[in-house]
Amino acid sequence: MRKLAAGNWKMNGGRAALDEVAALCAAHPAPECEMLLCPPATLIAQMAWAARGKALKIGGQDCHPAVSGAHTGDISAPMLKDAGAAYVIVGHSERRTDHGETDALVRAKAGAAIAAGLIAIVCIGETEAERDAGATLAVIGAQLDGSLPEGATAATLVLAYEPVWAIGTGRTPTIAEIAEVHGFLRARLTERIGAEAAGVRLLYGGSVKPSNAAEIFAVSDVDGALVGGASLKAVDFGAIVAALAA
Ligand code: PEP
Repeated sequence: MRKLAAGNWKMNGGRAALDEVAALCAAHPAPECEMLLCPPATLIAQMAWAARGKALKIGGQDCHPAVSGAHTGDISAPMLKDAGAAYVIVGHSERRTDHGETDALVRAKAGAAIAAGLIAIVCIGETEAERDAGATLAVIGAQLDGSLPEGATAATLVLAYEPVWAIGTGRTPTIAEIAEVHGFLRARLTERIGAEAAGVRLLYGGSVKPSNAAEIFAVSDVDGALVGGASLKAVDFGAIVAALAA
């Protein structure tokens, strides 16, 4: 399994930010892990061009479940592929919250991504109230079951565990809590897709930064990270890449 350091730029960055891509690629020309940036849609084609021949993959942050049609403002999975993307994030908690995305819609998006030849990064995670109520495993188990696309394999699916309360807050679960959830996800995935589950990369996401990356990556069944804020600067994201590759 090739571990994955994935950066989610969210709604940040313009053309000037492509300097960060050049710096990242120059500092990490051949990392011992996969390196991915998911910029805003406006930058995908340019970033893919900047990353050509380099050890950096590019991804989208969302896609529509349909291939084309009357969906103003949306972007389909084949369009992302055409622009140079290799991955797409689906079901990020900000999409689920801001746009009311359900597990069924996330599942349809993930299926569309895979059908277009993209790798789908499916995000799941509990809210703080759900964790406080002791419902974490029940919530993420149900999200996994509801969001898992038909026929997913280790080559087409990445699963990102992102506790909602840890995203952009500087707070993280304890190492034991991350280990509990990732172990649970591996077992649940095995129930669903059998032996393929062993090769599916399970990312942790939520306030990963250079200072905590190494201890999170030491947890078993953590196969990489989905990184928001700390992916915007090449020096920070590069340090996370280096921690994963170590
Ligand atoms: C994210 O947006 O997926 C994320 C994990 O953000 P941050 O790293 O900023 O918490």
